[in-house]
Amino acid sequence: MSPVPDTAVPSTTLNNGTAIPQLGFGVYQIEPAQTVEAVSKALEVGYRHIDTAQMYQNEAEVGEAVETFGRAEVFITSKLNNSFHEPDAARREFDETLRKLRTDSIDLFLIHWPLPTLYDGDYVSTWKVLGEFLADGRAKAVGVSNFQVPHLERLAAETDLVPAVNQIEVHPYLTNDAVREYGSAHGIVTEAWSPIAQGQVLGDPVITEIATGLSKSPAQVVLRWHVQRGDVIFPKSTTPARIQENFEIFDFELDGDAMKALSALDKGAEGRTGPDPDTFDYVPG
Ligand code: NAD
Repeated sequence: MSPVPDTAVPSTTLNNGTAIPQLGFGVYQIEPAQTVEAVSKALEVGYRHIDTAQMYQNEAEVGEAVETFGRAEVFITSKLNNSFHEPDAARREFDETLRKLRTDSIDLFLIHWPLPTLYDGDYVSTWKVLGEFLADGRAKAVGVSNFQVPHLERLAAETDLVPAVNQIEVHPYLTNDAVREYGSAHGIVTEAWSPIAQGQVLGDPVITEIATGLSKSPAQVVLRWHVQRGDVIFPKSTTPARIQENFEIFDFELDGDAMKALSALDKGAEGRTGPDPDTFDYVPG
């Protein structure tokens, strides 16, 4: 293992008292055959937080790379697939997640999508099952993903368990502030997925001009904007130079004007690159 640089990645404390590194590495759309190499590269660069999901079909490869590096040093998140919302399926597939990740306990486990148009709209039963994993210690923290404010309000009304995080789409074209504000008012940390909108924001002239002025890349400027807003991020790349570049965001700061300029790029719902959580109903076969 090569020496780990002084990363200075800050941690965010979740509502159960555990700490999550604010910058992690996402593995969505990384082919299983590429995953061990990509995750190993990220760990070598200094990332200590990996975001995977049952849906990504690369948990086993994440588990292999993390085991080789040292499980105790790495924060791992996974997510329940849309096919497994019924309680018995959720229990069975959570066991599978632990087996594939080669671990007795996961740091964070999420409901991937609320699927309000499926399962009779019952994501509450699914949420209670995640509470079982928390209670028996096999999940150190549990949370949700793609939950809108009414979905979060329903969990609050019908259960005593507050999600540790809500992982939602956030980037300069979709600042998603109403959901973020609900989270910060209720002790739910926002995790921003597709933090650079899968590359779509990187050519924006507002962003490229700020980047040029700071001698940083557009991706670094956007990732830094997220960090200063307080969200947790995990950009994805399989290119070693970009994995390194996306990690080098703690040696500069955006001033108030730059922060405002990026936030002003918000296009509301039109800025989404991914599906609308209110209607998304994809269930893998
Ligand atoms: P992202 O915003 O991280 O963009 C990734 C893409 O941007 C890469 O494929 C690459 O083409 C490009 N890129 C990366 N670094 C770059 C750089 N420095 N310069 C130029 N281009 C660069 O998109 P993402 O992968 O969709 O999101 C990140 C992570 O968020 C995922 O891997 C996954 O872990 C998570 N995620 C979660 C959900 C969810 O529903 N919960 C949905 C999507 C993504």
